[in-house]
Amino acid sequence: MSATLVMSSTQFKSVEGCLRAMLFRFRSRLRTVTSTDYFARGCAVHAGLATHYDGKSVDDSLLAAVNELQARLPNNPDMVQELTPQVLDLLTFYLSDDPKSGATLDKEERVNTIAVENTFDIEVAPDIRIIGIIDHLKYFHRSNSMKGKAIEDHKTSKRGGLTYGSNIEYEPQQLLYAWAAREMGFAPEWFSWNVLVTTKQPYVMRFYEPIYWPRIHTYMLRAINFAKWLQKQPEEPGEILLDVPGNPGQCRSCMFRQLCDFPQLTDVLLQSDFRREEYQGLSQFRKATNGTQGSNDTSSNTP
Ligand code: SF4
Repeated sequence: MSATLVMSSTQFKSVEGCLRAMLFRFRSRLRTVTSTDYFARGCAVHAGLATHYDGKSVDDSLLAAVNELQARLPNNPDMVQELTPQVLDLLTFYLSDDPKSGATLDKEERVNTIAVENTFDIEVAPDIRIIGIIDHLKYFHRSNSMKGKAIEDHKTSKRGGLTYGSNIEYEPQQLLYAWAAREMGFAPEWFSWNVLVTTKQPYVMRFYEPIYWPRIHTYMLRAINFAKWLQKQPEEPGEILLDVPGNPGQCRSCMFRQLCDFPQLTDVLLQSDFRREEYQGLSQFRKATNGTQGSNDTSSNTP
């Protein structure tokens, strides 16, 4: 009998991206320093929003965000110092009553929180479980034709390029969250995206899309089939990794591009302890292998 496969919602959504990238990331445990820092900033903003939607004051929400940032980066005070003003500016901008703030948030909207940071752990097939956290379940009212139960995801990475009208209703994470929420007894009628990013200045926006359930069922069927396939793969894919089909449509912003461009490096990388370190690109790889690998210049591809 095969062991139980537990996948996070982040892994599960990779079905819609590149399978090979998913294996690099989750089976070979390659990470970048940059992604770790992005992650800490996003977690801090999420902690502030969870506190806010839990009914606490603005001060409490800001404090929760700073505490989360420090907890995520315990050995990097310089990064904490750099990210703290970004996080505080963004949250202050979002939570402020100033009409200039969050013009796209519709300050007339009424929101009743049902739950924040709702965790789920659901068996989707025999010996396959999906775990995750849903940011916000709420009831909202914007107008008589725009109201109801919504599942909200806070987006804090500008890399997502999340914009209204860009097939947003296909976003895999939300499809999975809506399905999980319904399994837990809260059947949402709307997707809600709450976008908070720092560009030159804080930028916030919230938008909605009605939920079309057949799309979710189709996605879940595909994703469960994928999980069944993954369940049969070896824990350490090693040399099979480059036999797994990639998805060129995703390559442009992929952090593993150098490994796909130079397949001869991949086996060496995955067989060394180096794979457990944070992957910073080919130059770090050369250093780790005493400059014996990777003679081609790929500086333009540095993640
Ligand atoms: S570079 Fe392209 S094919 Fe390779 S892992 Fe990334 S998205 Fe997949």
